[in-house]
Amino acid sequence: KPRVRFAPSPTGYLHLGGLRTALYNYLLARQGGGSCLLRIEDTDQTRFVPGATESLIRALEWAGVKFDEGPTIGGPHEPYQQSKRLNIYSKHADTLLEHGHAYRCFCSSERLALVRLEAQKTGRSASYDRKCSYLSPQESQERADKGESFVVRLKVPDGKTVVQDEVHGKVEFSNKEVDDSVLMKSDGFPTYHLANVVDDHLMGITHVIRGLEWLPSAPKHVLLYEMFGWTTPKFAHVPLLLNPDKTKLSKRSGDVNVEDYRDKGYFPEAVVNFVALLGWHPGTTDEIFDMNGLIEAFSLKNIQQSNAVVLREKLDWINKMHLLRRAESREGLLGMAAMVRPKIEADLGPLSQKYSDEYIARVIDTLKERIKNVYDVPDLCGYYFRTPTYTSEESLAYRAKVGDAALGKILPTARELLESPSGKELVKDDAKAVLKTIADTHKLKLPAVMNALRYTVSGVKVGAGVPETLSTLGRETVLRRIDQVLA
Ligand code: GLU
Repeated sequence: KPRVRFAPSPTGYLHLGGLRTALYNYLLARQGGGSCLLRIEDTDQTRFVPGATESLIRALEWAGVKFDEGPTIGGPHEPYQQSKRLNIYSKHADTLLEHGHAYRCFCSSERLALVRLEAQKTGRSASYDRKCSYLSPQESQERADKGESFVVRLKVPDGKTVVQDEVHGKVEFSNKEVDDSVLMKSDGFPTYHLANVVDDHLMGITHVIRGLEWLPSAPKHVLLYEMFGWTTPKFAHVPLLLNPDKTKLSKRSGDVNVEDYRDKGYFPEAVVNFVALLGWHPGTTDEIFDMNGLIEAFSLKNIQQSNAVVLREKLDWINKMHLLRRAESREGLLGMAAMVRPKIEADLGPLSQKYSDEYIARVIDTLKERIKNVYDVPDLCGYYFRTPTYTSEESLAYRAKVGDAALGKILPTARELLESPSGKELVKDDAKAVLKTIADTHKLKLPAVMNALRYTVSGVKVGAGVPETLSTLGRETVLRRIDQVLA
């Protein structure tokens, strides 16, 4: 059974790509009846951001990616935070030193900077020149005993290293290209390479699914597994996420923070559906999935090699499809109403009692074909909750199109016809009949009458059909707005 992990470094927030990595791991675990772990890789103290772990967990919870083991859940391999496992790593570093698979490096940072420069100039991808690997064990021990500061480096052997990848197949690295990377820093903290491999082994990880940016590190990891005499897990390096201009998706270039999507009103299932399809395809033409659908359809073999472009329009479309799905049930509509209420109040001010969840649900139901996101309701259709501002540019253009003369005929008649029977709900068909009667009475075209009423009750173009809009707003509100325009 698969045992997989999501192993983020808490550097601030959950990146869209991080969500995708977490999701793929989760899907594989659920599908195979295995376990998915959350492990916090926080050994780089210079990158510590307070609250970052909490925000990661919050975003993952929102998305519906659940873990079986982790820092807040516990599990058989506690602790799940690398900064709390330092003794484990130093023990393993010692083992490597003892067996000659690693060596102490005493080089000063000044020297290392020079060596790095030299490597850059000569185009050598392994940046350290291995000077300290030639120290005798005795000298190395003596200098350490005297208290000289050192790091522990991986002793990359000659030859080549093969990474067997589920996505990319066999990837061969010449060891000359592989750096003698630092495994333990002078402050006693491990680096990512050591901590990651040790934990993946100790935690029984069977599949390492992570971003393609880690593929160049994979030969170091494979070497470490071999040096420790451990079985290498299966690797799957998933494609990078790109902006539409093919640059790497980064914070500067757009929304990469998962919580930003939440704050923009996207549904968690839509964001999950969207990221799932960034680099994976179901092998069919289906594009709309909920979590269970993804669990069923997912497979590592349908992960693509080429990088994936993040298209906001695609997310909007997927979100709309999920909006329509939710709108199929009363429960779904009420859920959306509860979700959008705080946004309406934030934008338009507190709502009075009469705007119940039922009312908001009805508004969403009438608008569902024309919006992509529930937050479009206050953004585009605030008139369901507030009197339109008839002075906006759009509104004035609308009025000009209808013409004051026509408006002066249409509205008084509308008022008369809509007034009675007062107290009775204004249903769509009645509203429609009223519009038709007005047109007949004044020998006007029906669209002109529609436009006049649309201007009067909403002042904007975005909205459902006029009869539905009148019916949703209700008799009283419609009459009040007619009076306002006539005044
Ligand atoms: N801590 C690494 C990261 O932040 C984990 C990479 C891996 O999954 O091995 O992405």
